[in-house]
Amino acid sequence: MTERIAMTTPLVECDGDEMTRIIWAWIKELVLEPFVELKTEYYDLGLAERERTRDAVTIEAAQAIKRLGVGVKCATITPNAERVEEYGLSEMYKSPNGTIRAILGGTVFRAPITTAGIVPYIANWTKPITIARHAYGDIYKNTELRLAEDFAGARVELVATAPNGREQRALVHDFGAPCPTGIVQGIHNTDASIESFAHACMTFALDTKQDLWFGTKDTISKVYDRRFRDIFDEVFWGHYRQRFAEKGIEYFYTLIDDAVARTIRSEGGFIWACRNYDGDVMSDMVATAFGSLAMMTSVLVSPEGYYEYEAAHGTVQRHYYRHQAGEETSTNSVATLFAWTGALRRRGQIDALPELCAFADRLETACHETIASGIMTGDLYALSTLAHKKKIDTKGFLVEVARRIAE
Ligand code: NAP
Ligand code: MG
Repeated sequence: MTERIAMTTPLVECDGDEMTRIIWAWIKELVLEPFVELKTEYYDLGLAERERTRDAVTIEAAQAIKRLGVGVKCATITPNAERVEEYGLSEMYKSPNGTIRAILGGTVFRAPITTAGIVPYIANWTKPITIARHAYGDIYKNTELRLAEDFAGARVELVATAPNGREQRALVHDFGAPCPTGIVQGIHNTDASIESFAHACMTFALDTKQDLWFGTKDTISKVYDRRFRDIFDEVFWGHYRQRFAEKGIEYFYTLIDDAVARTIRSEGGFIWACRNYDGDVMSDMVATAFGSLAMMTSVLVSPEGYYEYEAAHGTVQRHYYRHQAGEETSTNSVATLFAWTGALRRRGQIDALPELCAFADRLETACHETIASGIMTGDLYALSTLAHKKKIDTKGFLVEVARRIAE
C-alpha cells in the first residue's frame, strides 16, 4: 500500500444519526482511512450523546469549528414529539444545525452535484447553481394581525419610537368601508445582517470563482428592498470590485423576477444570493430540477471564514429501519462524501497541503466515474438515463469508489 497522506491540523468531525451515521463510519473505514492519516477532533452529535450531555456537545462542536476553522457534519435528527418518545429524551433539543448556525453566524450555500446520466429538468443547466439563502428576518421573524369583525374598520400604522421618545409613523392601511376586515404584518431586517450576508456571498464567490447574482423587488419596495440592494452595492464597491475583476468574475444585480427568468435560461455555474423567502422557495425548485436531494451539498460559511460542510439531506430514517432489520439498503452516500471532500480540501488549502487537496479531487472524480460506469444507488438508478446502469447496495458503492481512488 502507498503511504497515507498526512494532515497537520485536525478537522472538526461531527458524527450524527441513523443511516447517515452508518454511512459515516463506512466512509471513514473504506474511503478515507486507507489513503489519509485522518486527524479529527471528534464530536458525537448523535441523539444519545446529545441527551447524555444535555446538548452541550453541540455547543462544544461549534466552538471547536471556531477554533480550528473547518468542520464536517453528518446529518442529525431534529427531535419532534415522536423522537422524544423513541429516544426517551428529557427535552426536545433544538436542531443542531440551528445551534451551530447561531454560534458561527453566516450563510448556508447549497449546490447540486451534477454527474453523468442525471439530466436536469432544465436541459440548458449544464453547471450547478448554488443558492445562498439569507437566513435572518423578513417573514421568518414577522408580526401579524388578523383584523376580523371585532377590529373592522381599524386604521393600521407602523410606529417607530426612538430611545429619546421621537416617533416616526406611517399609514399601512385604513380599513374603512367597504372592506373593513383583513390582515396585516410587520417585518424587519438589520443593516448588520444584510451586510454580513453580502460579505459571505462575495467571499464565497471569490473562493469558488463564480459570478454572484442578487435580486430583490426594489422597484416596488423602494425603502425595504432598496436597502438590500444598496448594502450589496456598498459592500461590493467598497471591498470586492478589484478582487472580482482580478478573478474575472462579476457581481450582477437585477429584479427578482428577472433573476428567475434568467436563471431558467442560463447554463448555471453561478451563485444566486436569495433573500430569506426567495431562498426557501428557490432552493427547493433548484434541488428538484437538478434531480435528487441526495445529490445536494451544503456549506455554512461564517463571516470570519469558518466553514462547516454537510450533505443537505437528512438521516434517511426509513433506510435505517430497514438496515436495522437486517435488510439490504441502497442509500446514496455521495453528498456525505462531498461534505468530506469539501472539508479536506479546505483544510489542505489553509494548511498548504496540496496532496490533501489532490486527494479530495481524486475522491470526487472516483464518485463521478463510478456513477458514469453505471454503478449507482437506487435513488439515482430511478433517475439515470444511462443504458448500462446497475443498482448497488450502500456499502458496495463505497467499495467501488475506494477501488477507483486506489487505481
Ligand atoms: P431525509 O432524511 O432527507 O429523507 C427523505 C427521503 O429522501 C428519504 O426517505 C429517501 O427517500 C430520500 N433520501 C434522502 N437522502 C437520501 C440518500 N442519501 N439516499 C437515498 N435516498 C435519500 O429527510 P426526512 O425523512 O424528512 O428526515 C429524517 C431525519 O433527518 C429527521 O429526523 C430530520 O430531523 C433529519 N434531518 C436532518 C438534516 C440535517 O442534519 N442537515 C436535514 C434534514 C432532515 P425514500 O425513503 O423514498 O428512499
Ligand atoms: Mg423550503
